[in-house]
Amino acid sequence: MAEPVDLPSRLGILPFRNKVLLPGAIIRIRCTSPSSVMLVEQELWQKEEKGLIGVLPVRDTEAAAVGSMLSPGVGNDSGERSLKGPADVLDSQKQDGKNQQKLIHWHNRGVAARALHLSRGVEKPSGRVTYIVVLEGLCRFSVQELSARGTYRMARVSRLDMTKAELEQAEQDPDLLLLSRQFKASAMELISILEQKQKTVGRTKVLLESVPVHRLADIFVASFEISFEEQLSMLDSVDLKVRLSKATELVDRHLQSIRVAEKITQKVEGQLSKSQKEFLLRQQMRAIKEELGDNDDDEDDIASLERKMQSAGMPPNIWKHAQRELRRLRKMQPQQPGYSSSRVYLELLADLPWQKGSEEREIDLRTAKERLDCDHYGLVKVKQRIIEYLAVWKLKPDARGPVLCFVGPPGVGKTSLASSIAAALNRKFVRISLGGVKDEADIRGHRRTYVGSMPGRLIDGLKRVAVNNPVILLDEIDKTGSDVRGDPASALLEVLDPEQNKTFNDHYLNVPFDLSKVIFVATANRVQPVPPALLDRMEVIELPGYTPEEKLKIAMKHLIPRVLDQHGLSSESLQIPEVIVKIIIQRYTREAGVRNLERKLAALARAAAVKVAEQDCMVQLSKDVHPMTSSLLDERLAGGAEVEMEVIPLGVNGQEISNTFSSTSVLVVDEAMLEKVLGPPRFDDREAAERVATPGVSVGLVWTSFGGEVQFVEATAMAGKGDLHLTGQLGDVIKESAQIALTWVRARAADLKLSAAGEISLLENRDIHIHFPAGAVPKDGPSAGVTLVTSLVSLFGQRKVRADTAMTGEMTLRGLVLPVGGIKDKVLAAHRCGIKRVILPERNLKDLAEVPSAILAGMENSWFA
Ligand code: ADP
Repeated sequence: MAEPVDLPSRLGILPFRNKVLLPGAIIRIRCTSPSSVMLVEQELWQKEEKGLIGVLPVRDTEAAAVGSMLSPGVGNDSGERSLKGPADVLDSQKQDGKNQQKLIHWHNRGVAARALHLSRGVEKPSGRVTYIVVLEGLCRFSVQELSARGTYRMARVSRLDMTKAELEQAEQDPDLLLLSRQFKASAMELISILEQKQKTVGRTKVLLESVPVHRLADIFVASFEISFEEQLSMLDSVDLKVRLSKATELVDRHLQSIRVAEKITQKVEGQLSKSQKEFLLRQQMRAIKEELGDNDDDEDDIASLERKMQSAGMPPNIWKHAQRELRRLRKMQPQQPGYSSSRVYLELLADLPWQKGSEEREIDLRTAKERLDCDHYGLVKVKQRIIEYLAVWKLKPDARGPVLCFVGPPGVGKTSLASSIAAALNRKFVRISLGGVKDEADIRGHRRTYVGSMPGRLIDGLKRVAVNNPVILLDEIDKTGSDVRGDPASALLEVLDPEQNKTFNDHYLNVPFDLSKVIFVATANRVQPVPPALLDRMEVIELPGYTPEEKLKIAMKHLIPRVLDQHGLSSESLQIPEVIVKIIIQRYTREAGVRNLERKLAALARAAAVKVAEQDCMVQLSKDVHPMTSSLLDERLAGGAEVEMEVIPLGVNGQEISNTFSSTSVLVVDEAMLEKVLGPPRFDDREAAERVATPGVSVGLVWTSFGGEVQFVEATAMAGKGDLHLTGQLGDVIKESAQIALTWVRARAADLKLSAAGEISLLENRDIHIHFPAGAVPKDGPSAGVTLVTSLVSLFGQRKVRADTAMTGEMTLRGLVLPVGGIKDKVLAAHRCGIKRVILPERNLKDLAEVPSAILAGMENSWFA
């Protein structure tokens, strides 16, 4: 260690800006300013033996606290000029121009330093000389006088540190001994803490043993990052005791800050390990739950889904697909976007009846026939065809016969026949309504990539019935349309094709499903709108409308018992006589089927139910011998309603009461009640006669999806320019028919004696307006041709058409009458309206065979055009 130094009386001064070099510390300085370069050159570089310089702390004015600072120009010595002004140059620190104008305050104490290393450099291209100096602080001095030599300063200095003898003496001081022990203890503690972090501190430990404690204090403090003020006060601590206590304080402070930092690190580490601990505990909890069979969280939910999937009996390839999807689901968090859709999909896979079917029973044809007969009146041919169908099914269950398609107006029993087939075969029944379906996805499902995607109606229906061999009714197959979203009919082709439906591919399901065990039955109102390709796969069974007699039988045998049952009534409480049913058929319903009839009967049953319920209430009252204070009853009595309360004997048991009640209070519907409940009659037979009271009106027969109907055609003439006006929501074909009819009548005007010979134009100065009443209903088709001609001839000839005659038939321009469809329905419609004579195209003669003979017998005669 450095020996006590011989301090010269004068030292070249290197200013150290806002910093302090303490004895024992080593610093590296790069000197670039002219003054410091000159100082180093003259005081260190050019001296033969090693020279010393003084390092003096300086501060600029902003750094305040000037108490112990020197004023410049304290003296003038050995030809050196005293400093005159405050302006000064700092050597080791680079300054900007602003700082150069500031007052520099020199500290009055500094540290003598020797150069451990010196290197000289010349900057190119300026040729400026620079030095790099490594200095070691040796001992404190105080400045007696500061003067300038050339560009740098010189100071007259006096030594501050004690001599060796003084030191030895001072060390005897017990206070100092105590202080130095304290310092060493703190220093030791610091070293041992640092030792845990860095290996290099081993050397510091050696220092602690060998270096005198007063020097150690400086060395330790020099290594801390402390403020300039603290560094200055350390430099000023010439007294050993002061120095040691200050150093001990600083070391303790440093220890403290290390401890705090350590504490914070430990805390952070602790938090980290806490979350790790939580994770571990959760894992353990899950394991425990699994052990206990506690299935309440998501994981167990998935496990139960898997079990459900396993018992669904999926074919191997689909099972593989499902497992892939399940693995994907397992990796997802329940909050993830795809989770629920994936789950719903797997639920569907698990719910579908891959293997499960209704138990197939040996078909007993006789029971099947009995069942059909029991549910439906008439329809002999249709029932026969169904029995044939079932017979083939019985003999060859895998034979893929054509799909049955019931075609007919609403309410003729198409749906109920299909459900009877299902019952006869002991199968479940699903009805899929296709009316208005325009989107192929309705049949085949949406791909799962779409938001809100779902399976098609077929797969959905199968999921609902949960068997793979139900009877599926494709209702209203003629009402599907097609637009940009695809063609549902073409998707149905795949469904109905026995070759393809083994592997029906629903877009949502995305795996094939076997539909071959399903029995399909279709219904339609009309055949024409059904695409030919689809029609080709089906066997059309037509169900024309019923005659009034048939309707009467259906009502008496089937509808009334069913309606009574549905309303909680019996034939003992309500009776609807045949005459009344006839009146309902003739005056309240004019339809091919029996749906409206059923509705009207239901309305009667509802009205009756109110009365019966009120009577029930009265029986209760009489039984308990309470005063008759029922408000309901009072109202009825006030209204003069016929409540037969006096005939019920009091005090009899419940059984007798109900017997008495039912035998006495049977409600028989009469015409008055009919009008009260159903309102005034909607139709009567005189309608046609009233309508054709003027020339220009004729009665046509048309065919709509509701069956045959009577259609009036009205023509009238007015002053004009020979235009033809057509109204009544007509299609293109019917408009053309009107043009043809007019042309034909005009061409034959003379033959028909409609105009005088030579006067060809019937339209001179007049317009013709033809209207088809029921203007709100769209109409089209060629079969009004004959009716239009009749109407025009009647108008021009001013002769009335017979009200009891209806007609149908297409007209060509040359006057040929072409056959039309739906003869049977049309004749039935004419019969319903009380029309006795029907004019038909001759080529439709063969169709009359289909018309029930009872109807034909009711006709006066048939004419053929
Ligand atoms: P559609 O499907 O042809 O429109 P539904 O099958 O729904 O008609 O029949 C309407 C109602 O008429 C049903 O209650 C049905 O039982 C009844 N019905 C129709 N035809 C008959 C019939 N021949 N015998 C008994 N009830 C019938």
